[in-house]
Amino acid sequence: MRAWFEAEVSRIKAILGFDVPIIIADHDEYKGHEQALGIAHADRETGEVIAITIDEFFVEESFAVAHKDEHRLAWVVEFDNFEEVICHELAHLKYWHHGRWHNRETARLLEKLRSAAPAPAPASEEVQAVPRV
Ligand SMILES: [Zn+2]
Repeated sequence: MRAWFEAEVSRIKAILGFDVPIIIADHDEYKGHEQALGIAHADRETGEVIAITIDEFFVEESFAVAHKDEHRLAWVVEFDNFEEVICHELAHLKYWHHGRWHNRETARLLEKLRSAAPAPAPASEEVQAVPRV
């Protein structure tokens, strides 16, 4: 699960050009943020985002979804996309408050990330096969 998380986070950061630490944490330990899937942590003095934490339970759910683990998917009722959560938090590096500008930045990052995804496999070989006579 951790290896998958590290690989995903590295991929996303490389595509979007960020180097802020993104780590797994138990959000039950952050009072008032227990329900948050992701948290952007800002430096109290500069206001700069210094780290992003992703809730460990959500990472486990995302891992199950990514690996199509049907046994676990059965109880994953609601799934917020892992990439959306990461992009939402990264958008806080530019816009601290939620709102129109933050939403636009989240959408822009997501679009950039998804357009950089590996191209789908080429069309079926049957199309190129020589028909039998
Ligand atoms: Zn937020």
